[in-house]
Amino acid sequence: MIRIAIDGPGGAGKSSVAKSVSKALGIIYVDTGALYRNIGLFMLDQGIDPKNAEAVTAALDEITIELKFENGKQVILLNGVDRGEDIRTPEASMAASAVSAIPSVRNYLLEMQRNTAKNNSVIMDGRDIGTVILPGAEVKIFLTASAKARAERRYKELISKGNNVTLDQVYSEMVERDRNDSTRDVAPCVKAKDAILLDNSKMSEAETVAAILKIVKKKTKDTTPLYSFLKVIVSPVYRLIFNVHVKGKENIPKNGGVLLCPNHIGAIDVISIGTVCPRQITCIAKKELFSVPVLGRLVKALGAVKIDRGGADVGAIKAAVSAIESGKTVVIFPQGHRFPEVDPATTPIRHGAGLIAYHAKSDVIPVCINIKKGKYSLFRRTDIIYGRPIKYEELGFKEGGREEYAKATEMIFSETVKLGDFSSLPAYDPANERQNKRKKRK
Ligand code: C5P
Repeated sequence: MIRIAIDGPGGAGKSSVAKSVSKALGIIYVDTGALYRNIGLFMLDQGIDPKNAEAVTAALDEITIELKFENGKQVILLNGVDRGEDIRTPEASMAASAVSAIPSVRNYLLEMQRNTAKNNSVIMDGRDIGTVILPGAEVKIFLTASAKARAERRYKELISKGNNVTLDQVYSEMVERDRNDSTRDVAPCVKAKDAILLDNSKMSEAETVAAILKIVKKKTKDTTPLYSFLKVIVSPVYRLIFNVHVKGKENIPKNGGVLLCPNHIGAIDVISIGTVCPRQITCIAKKELFSVPVLGRLVKALGAVKIDRGGADVGAIKAAVSAIESGKTVVIFPQGHRFPEVDPATTPIRHGAGLIAYHAKSDVIPVCINIKKGKYSLFRRTDIIYGRPIKYEELGFKEGGREEYAKATEMIFSETVKLGDFSSLPAYDPANERQNKRKKRK
């Protein structure tokens, strides 16, 4: 999943540019300004002053707004009716700007906007998308242009739609709307700290679209130069030596954050998965690994998240969650440590995978490492099987908590185990010295 937030003042061309970007990427476009415009229009219809916070708040009870997508195109129904171009008049623009400064209106529309981006890749434009609605968006752009350039564009657009306006009128309304939007107390139109500023005063629409697509490509490219080097040079040799075969690569989404949950056989599991994963993986590695000479530096350079297996490592969980939120492919081993030569279905598991998936609202991919005898050996066949993604909604979360995390992790890991054939391996036996050697050494 990918979420692109485009904020900026009116007339910067956000909506036409976002539409083109949505087509190019095959994701939906959400025009949040249209929601405020519908509310503004409703107030005008009812003869309510859109600046009167009390009256507007009371009138919200009489409104139902439905935001739908038909063939990928946004449709808004205001009390069951699609008001089409009525929301685009200068009067509706000013009314939208006025009602949008009222906290109850913003609250009213908040969840609707967030929900749209929960299960879909979106490009969403507005004023507060990167700051309030989708603070975790993978790509944030603040699109702006000089007031003169924006007024000229808006003027041409309004004239072409048959509106009777002058350039001066459009310019002064635009300046007033800018002032309202950027100085209001709630969710003002400001650039998010991590947004990229794009001034398109001297750019054509096509140039702006190209610039945004370039930013998206760069931001979502999750391969570091070291990783690429290892993949090209080391990976083929490794695959040959450990006879690595892969299935289900198509189950790895092309972009957006996701959590991979493999069974754990040996210290080189991460390399086995990484060599055949179409995307760079970020692993969660025990802290001891970071102090091993050479390997520690390598693990660090590859962006691994450090975890203290001794207790609840809140920092590491947060780091994993934010890595997923920023679009990375994170790997966590539900078993917590290695269990070679044992049927994974019988080993204990921890609940970190469920915890991370819950907080990152992430889909999860079960990954099975299937090796005969349950142990790596030179030239013995290693199968890496990526399973069908388990959607966040399938994980059965209600309000979070240990029990829910444990249950979700069990469900995920049972899918991991189902992908392989471990019938020839013995069940886990806590009294067995050999099976527990990793645990004892800790
Ligand atoms: O983007 P558009 O010009 O259609 O938005 C109309 C008005 O809605 C804006 O002037 C702004 O006041 C308000 N708006 C907002 N937050 C958004 C989108 C629009 O306050 N996310």
